[in-house]
Formats: sequence, structure tokens, C-alpha cells
Amino acid sequence: MQEKNNLLKTPVRYFKGVGPKRGELLSKLGLQTAEDILYYLPARYEDRSNFTAVRDLKIGEHQTIQGEIITLTSRLTKARHRVFQMAINDRTGIIHAAWFNQPYLKDYFKKGDKIVLYGKVELYDKLQMIQPEYEIFKVGEVDSLNMGRIVPVYPLTGGITQRYLRTLTDAAISKCQGALDETLPTYLKAREKLVDIKFAIKNIHFPVSFPNLEKAYRRIVFEEFFTLQLALAIKKRGLKAEEGLNHKIEAGFAASFKAALTFELTEGQKKAISDIERDMSSSRPMNRLLEGDVGSGKTVVAAYALALTVQNGFQGVIMAPTEVLARQHFIVLSELLMPLGINVELLIGGIDEKRRLVIYGDIKSGKINIVVGTHAIIQESVEFKKLGLAVVDEQHKFGVTQRAILKQKGYNPHILVMTATPIPRTLALTVYGDLDVSVIKEMPKGRKPIVTYWVEEEKRKEIYDFIKEELEKGRQAYVVCPLIERREMKDDGRGMMEDGRQDAVGTFKKFKDEIFSNYTVGLLHGRMNSQKKDKVMKDFKKGKIDVLVSTVVIEVGIDVPNASVMLVENADRFGLAQLHQLRGRIGRGEHESYCILLADPKTEEAERRLKAVEGTLDGFQIAEADLDIRGPGEFFGTRQHGLPEIRFGNILKDFDIMEIARKEAFELVAKDPGLDEEHHRALKKRLVSRFKGKLELIRVG
Ligand code: ADP
Ligand code: MG
Repeated sequence: MQEKNNLLKTPVRYFKGVGPKRGELLSKLGLQTAEDILYYLPARYEDRSNFTAVRDLKIGEHQTIQGEIITLTSRLTKARHRVFQMAINDRTGIIHAAWFNQPYLKDYFKKGDKIVLYGKVELYDKLQMIQPEYEIFKVGEVDSLNMGRIVPVYPLTGGITQRYLRTLTDAAISKCQGALDETLPTYLKAREKLVDIKFAIKNIHFPVSFPNLEKAYRRIVFEEFFTLQLALAIKKRGLKAEEGLNHKIEAGFAASFKAALTFELTEGQKKAISDIERDMSSSRPMNRLLEGDVGSGKTVVAAYALALTVQNGFQGVIMAPTEVLARQHFIVLSELLMPLGINVELLIGGIDEKRRLVIYGDIKSGKINIVVGTHAIIQESVEFKKLGLAVVDEQHKFGVTQRAILKQKGYNPHILVMTATPIPRTLALTVYGDLDVSVIKEMPKGRKPIVTYWVEEEKRKEIYDFIKEELEKGRQAYVVCPLIERREMKDDGRGMMEDGRQDAVGTFKKFKDEIFSNYTVGLLHGRMNSQKKDKVMKDFKKGKIDVLVSTVVIEVGIDVPNASVMLVENADRFGLAQLHQLRGRIGRGEHESYCILLADPKTEEAERRLKAVEGTLDGFQIAEADLDIRGPGEFFGTRQHGLPEIRFGNILKDFDIMEIARKEAFELVAKDPGLDEEHHRALKKRLVSRFKGKLELIRVG
């Protein structure tokens, strides 16, 4: 065992052809040991197993040919580059090949050699391949790494070539393949039709066929997902093993809560409420994530859960990320809960010391039933008499920290985390696999859908006219800019940054003095002090301002039903999720609303973003698109969200594998929670080594 592992840990520099310089380059790719090489997977593959006759070559495509070298030349260009050229004949036609600044090639080839070339076919005055990959075809040499087969193409940086890495990988496989440990138990491999790890590693690099490659990939990705899901299963099990609070649900209670509402709950809200009732009345602590787009009505669901805990003689707390949001919750919850005889209190920064101490005392004595505040304050200083439920609003770390802190203080309440970041199911299963999830999909009745257009700069004038029409009808408009104020005065005369970005301050001036001079224009951005900001917001809300020019500060916490238009300047500079959040500011009243994305996108990615926002109002579809465009790491702003590192699989494309891995992992943990059975030993070892030291990353433990 010891020896086997040592073989996998063989440093790369012990391999032939690896000196100090190459060793350095390899370590930049993260390749230090044989094992690193074995698990350095190709980014893609090229099918070079079939040769194309020169006669049949297609211009513009990558193809493989074989033939005989009929001429060789080497010359200097005017710019003094050395060009090495050859002509190859395969009896159906002649093709030329050229390489630049590789003088040694001259000695490598000779006339009459049988050769294989792989490259893009181009037509200048003749058929050509520029800098193709090459291989001399020696008679009897069957097992070439680079030609006549499905060839791996690795993600590389400068200094290391594909050919070099292929050779190295081949050497690592022959030397160390035998040392690879099988971690998956035999019964599991049989049930899920998974190939052995040795077969998988060999075929992920040098597949004999595409079906073999498929099997290899599936096996490797399965193992990766499976280990992750095992960790989640263990975590979740640990949580479930804890003592719950066993809330009782009285029949009349829900009815009287609902009767007090001025609206009918949506199906999603009803379902979420029944999920929560089930959790809170079970003998285990609730650990639930409530997802729903902005405006889908999560607050009322939280209010119900809070009321339920109070009804059972406990206290509840709701934590918001900002004071503005805490205040909003306080107002809404007071309205909903005070009539039920529930005592709600707000705890935020500005409260004076004397009052604060009184509040602390009342929380400790149990006189206050529900505390509303920011994360920070509640985590720091509050002592409860009997905490039954903690609601965490709009946080990405999703209750991890809160649970830990509350636990340290000796509480183990039910936890409900709410988020408007629609997390695609794929991600939910991956990252938050230890949480139960309720989703509110539909919006409350009566909302008018927002009409979204993406338009280009040339339509600016028409857009202004359109906004004026809306203003004439008595509506208000938001104008969002990506920048507060340009620092350099060098602009192109149209008030733009050199890079074309609009700034809020400049736009404000232009709108006030020229474009919308008949209306009242306001300005709002993050560098204004909060008094000024408050005043502007109040004026906008009261209708004293017609057009509000701002930066993304309006993203959260603003509700002006009369605002029916939003113009987003340089919309290509905003992220998908951000555009969707911004758009959520309009469409809040009875008026038809319009979101206009003004942009001449420079990249295909930006264009895809704009089309996605234009194409749907569904936050989940937007999130899926975002995930697809940016990848999971970026999607969540990487690490801070606890996204575990996934190296091999693609959680979007390989979602079916994730689901199977999850099912198997949860079953295994149910049967053998400690992974103590003999055939689970290797798995346990792998699990410990993968998640050691970063347990909070996957939130194990
Ligand atoms: P979010 O999910 O973004 O937190 P809120 O809870 O703030 O959404 O709800 C947005 C608005 O919708 C609130 O004014 C709320 O009173 C209202 N609302 C919630 N549920 C319903 C419903 N079922 N029918 C009509 N209006 C609702
Ligand atoms: Mg909310």
C-alpha cells in the first residue's frame, strides 16, 4: 500500500525529458507528481483516427492526412523569418505545409519520408496547412500518441507543447497506472455500470474509441460527484440527528393567519408553508432554503413561520443584510403579526444606548417575541430566552455562519434561509445539498409582465421619445448608468467615457439641461451621503422627480409602483443577475412596464447576456443561462459562497451523473454512516483527504 502511493507521488522531474525548466512550467499547470499528471484531463479530443484523402479535404476544417514528402525548402522572408516548407503527395493530390522559425525541422524530415499531418486546411494559391502537427510514419510503428487515433488536447500554457505532455502522460500511465487505488466498492460499480479506475485513467487520455472515452469520463466524474455527495450526506445526517423543537400546529392557527391577509396565497407560498410546517413539527431542526424571485412573496411565508414558533412559546429572529431591508421587514411584519398579539421589535445601528439596553432586556426576558435586525447585530450581542426560529434573508452563505454562531451561544433553532438568487436545481443539489429546498415559482396574481427590449445606440433618440410619452402619461422612469462620474475629461463630445461608458453625473446634467428639460430629473449614487440619498428616494417615491438617474444603488429595497420605464445604459457592462435584479424595480404597479437595455455589445458573451434578459422574465431561466455562460465559480462569485471545487465534471451538462451520485451517496450513508464497512474504507480515506482542512467549503462537520 505504502509503496503504491509512493509511486503515484513520483515527482515529475524523475520522468525522462523533464529538466528544471520544464519542471517549473509543469508546476505552473499544477503538475508536480505522477498522480497530478494522471488526473490532468484533456480539455477536448481530436479524432485523428481517419485520414482524409487530399482530394477530399474541406477548406477551413481541421483534418488529418498522410502522404509522402516530395519537396523540402527553407527560406527567409522579407521580415527575416525562417520558413520551412514541404509538399506532400498522397496520390490523390498535393498539399503544402509551412512552419515558421523552427530551423531544426530541416534536419528532422527528409524527402521520401511517409508523414502524417494534422491541421487546418487553407487555400491560398494552393492547398496548405500552416504549422500543422506532424508525425513521421515509421513502418511497423503502430502505437503513435499523436496521430492515427483519438488524440487528447490539454489545456496548456506557453512552453509546454501538446506532444510533450502526451509523451509525459503516456509515460506516467505506463509507470503508475497499477498504483491507482480503486475507491468505489464493487457492488456500486456493478450497479451503476462504472468502469475500473485503471481503465478510466488510461482511456480518458488515450481512448481507443469514443464509447470507451465516454465510459472513462463517466466513471471519473461519478467518483468526483459521489465523494462530494457523500460529504453532504454525512453533514445532513449529523444535522438531522440533533434534537428538534417539535412544534405543534393547531388547526385554527393557520386559518386565522390566512384570514388576516388581504390576498390569496400563491400555490408556491402554500407549498412552502406546508414544507415548513412539516419541518418545524418534526423532531429534527429545520434547515430549509426558500427560493423565490424578487417580489414572489417570501416575507409572508417567513411571517407565518415566525408566528408559528411564537405560538409554540418560542421567540423568532429575522436577519437582513442591510438596515434598509431590516426596516422594511419590521414594517411588514409588524402589520402582519401585531394583530395576532405578537410583539415585534427592530434592532439596528442607530438606536441609542439606553433604548438598546431595554430591548436587550426584553429579548432576554421573553417580552419581545420577534426580533428584526441586521446579521451583524443579532450575531453579536443578543441573548434570547428561548429561540425557536432564525430566518436569514438574502444571504449567500446561506445560514452557515448564522447556525454556527447561534449554536455557540447555545441555541439550536429551526433555520429558514431566504434568497432571491434563483439557484438552479443543479447547483442547489451540489452546494446546498444538505439543505431542504422550497421554491416559489410563480408571482402573485395581477402583476403585469415587464416588456424588455435590447436596442442599440443608434436608437437613442427614439428611446428618449418613448420615455417622454410615458412621462406624459404621468409615469416615472429610472435611468441606470454603469459609472458614477468620469474622472478624465477626455470624452468624445457626446458625454461618454473614452470606452463608451455613460456616467450618472454627466447623464444627469445632460438630461436635466437638454433632453428632459421640461421634467424634473434626479440623481442618486453611492457617493452621496445617506441623508441626500434618502431625500432623493423620498422625492422619487412621492412623484416629485420624474426621471431618476442612478447607478446600481437602486438594486435593492426600492418600491415605486408608478415607475414604469427603466433605461439601462451600457447594459452590456452589467452581469445577468444584476440586470434581472435591476429590472425587478419596475413592474410593481398596475401599469405596463418597459425595461430598455441600451448596448452595442463588444463580445459574444455580452450579447448572450442581453438576449437572455430580453428573452425571459423567469429568474430561474436567467440563472441557468448565467451559470451556462459564466460557469459555476463565477456565477456565485467563487469561494465565498461555499461552492466546492469541481475539477472534472460539469455540473450543468453532467447533471444526470450528479443525481445518480447523490442517490447512491445518500443510500450508502443511510446504511453505513461512518463508512466503516470494509468495502467503504478506501472511500473514507479519499473523502478525508479531499475535504480535510476545507470542511467549511462543503460545509461538512
Ligand atoms: P420577496 O419575495 O421579494 O421578499 P415580498 O415578500 O416583499 O417579496 O412581497 C412582494 C409584495 O407582494 C409585497 O407587497 C407583498 O405584500 C405582496 N404579496 C405577497 N404575496 C402575495 C400574494 N399571494 N398575492 C398578492 N400579493 C402578494
Ligand atoms: Mg424580500
